[in-house]
Amino acid sequence: MPSIEELKARAVAEIDARGKQLVRTAKTILDNPEPGFREQKTSRLVREIFCDWGIEHEGGIAITGVKGGLDGGSPGPTLAVMGELDSLRVIGHPHADPETSAAHACGHHCQIGMMLGVAAGLQAQGVMENLAGRVALIAVPAEEYIEIEYRDDLRRQGKLEFIGGKPEFIRLGALDDVDLAMMTHTSANANEGKIAFGGSNNGMVAKRIRFLGRASHAGGAPHMGVNALNAAMIAMSGIHAQRETYRDAGTVRIHPIITQGGIAVSSVPADVRMETYVRGASIEAFKDASEKVDRALRAGAMAVGGSVEITTLPGYLPIQSDESMLRLYGENACSLVGKDNLVRLGHRTGSTDMGDVSQLMPVIHPYVVAATGNGHGNDYVVQDYELGVLTGAKAMAMTVIDLLADGASHANRIVGQYEAPLTKQSYLKLMRSMLKESTHTS
Ligand SMILES: [Zn+2]
Ligand SMILES: [Zn+2]
Repeated sequence: MPSIEELKARAVAEIDARGKQLVRTAKTILDNPEPGFREQKTSRLVREIFCDWGIEHEGGIAITGVKGGLDGGSPGPTLAVMGELDSLRVIGHPHADPETSAAHACGHHCQIGMMLGVAAGLQAQGVMENLAGRVALIAVPAEEYIEIEYRDDLRRQGKLEFIGGKPEFIRLGALDDVDLAMMTHTSANANEGKIAFGGSNNGMVAKRIRFLGRASHAGGAPHMGVNALNAAMIAMSGIHAQRETYRDAGTVRIHPIITQGGIAVSSVPADVRMETYVRGASIEAFKDASEKVDRALRAGAMAVGGSVEITTLPGYLPIQSDESMLRLYGENACSLVGKDNLVRLGHRTGSTDMGDVSQLMPVIHPYVVAATGNGHGNDYVVQDYELGVLTGAKAMAMTVIDLLADGASHANRIVGQYEAPLTKQSYLKLMRSMLKESTHTS
């Protein structure tokens, strides 16, 4: 029976052997960016590669999600390795779709490359037969919580309940058979070495907001109108004035955008639309901030004599990483990039729906620092595909082997010791309790 080190060496060699195809796949996705729940081409590409590689799978989960799997030689837990299918939308990104501004400004194209890289490594001769349990290979839609109006309309049509891919996977039962999970994001932060791991993230709710006024001739008869854009501006001032009330430990982040400021410049704006997130380090922190934001939104509508419709949508929960999985991952990452290039993270004020998964099972969510520029900016470009796809895949594949070798003794111990903050039922109940729709008229 080959040693664990021998199994890892075979997996690493297989990832290198298929390295050109993996990098090419990531670059194909880069050139075909698709925002969440619209990732038809990206999803098809993953399914084609699974077919070519003889990996059984199902598609169409949460619209575009794909779930494949590889069985070990003996029974045991199921470990999911995930990659996210979706792009952002960023005007002026060098790889943006010229029509939609869809762009991979968060490096998810590399995530799919890494997930497939893990699949490649585990298909190396004799690897899976010496592991216990199953590895689920998941391409998940819509991690970037954008296009809220579009997705909320899908929700109202019954095509979605939640706006993010992993919450939908949980709701649909697509993670019911999964016991542990991992995925790797890309990063551009030079302070994070080559691989960064651990730490926590903010959670969030999102809001879809519509201020309603009354249209009228903007020059001739503004006194007959009710200016919904002024309502939105007063609301934003209210949101800014509340910032001094947030405690530092809550790491509250609120960043509204106006998605429709008016229709014709000669008419008093009567239908103005906003979207915002309300983020915080804990569920209590973002719920408290969410209520304050609603007060400011109402104040804007009241001040001009209009009305406001507020839809608060459940977002993502804060992430917690499993220390035992981090330890195994850290050793493997160290062997690949060296101790000096490995960084333990603190708290990050962004959000990810891997946080939701982390409330139900042990997870890790490391970063490969393969890009330059600002995350979500028009200059965020992956430069190092060796690191961003192949090394990232190797670190995860090696950790999969550690977890599932020796009768999956590590994975079984971690799952056995894990105390889940939420069950699937209590998770769904919590998420549903955050959905609020209200209209306020002056
Ligand atoms: Zn992102
Ligand atoms: Zn991302």
